[in-house]
Amino acid sequence: MSIETLTKSVRNIPDFPIPGIQFKDITTLFQSASHLKELSEILYDLYKEKGITKVVGIESRGFFMGPATAIKLNAGFVPIRKPGKLPYNVIEETYTKEYGEDTIQIHEDALNEDDVVLLHDDLLATGGTMVAAYNLVKKLGVKKIYINFLIELEELEGRLHFPTDVEINSIIKF
Ligand code: 5GP
Repeated sequence: MSIETLTKSVRNIPDFPIPGIQFKDITTLFQSASHLKELSEILYDLYKEKGITKVVGIESRGFFMGPATAIKLNAGFVPIRKPGKLPYNVIEETYTKEYGEDTIQIHEDALNEDDVVLLHDDLLATGGTMVAAYNLVKKLGVKKIYINFLIELEELEGRLHFPTDVEINSIIKF
């Protein structure tokens, strides 16, 4: 299956959740068995030789393919969540969004210096969310971090906000 076929299955929703936003709806990509399998195989091929020990997924759309990829890579899965959701001790990172601030958290003992991490989310827009997640994971002193998105909105140039030595992959580009 071509990337173009995958790309066409992402539904564009104008003015969601607010006027002016062109929202990329990934549910139409996931609901097809063949598309889902293809995505899963692409992710596996990208990372199978990287020695990934933990896939870290960002709430909430990073929780779809994150655990699925972890299983295929024989890695663990770790969630990054919004405040008040994780039950044990957390460390956190606060970042600025278009309107106001947001905070994300991770369990303080979820990762260690032996971990090779694949940080995963569904979509890269400005990069604010993933930069905060990258900084959060760095605080736990892991060995290496790879970054992956299913979709990248290239004109927003979100990838320019990351250090140049970090490998960032996206499968579908708009
Ligand atoms: P950023 O922080 O890069 O500006 O925004 C990315 C975050 O917002 C991701 O966690 C992603 O789930 C969410 N997001 C922003 N725009 C969209 C969109 O058009 N479609 C989807 N599925 N998620 C979006």
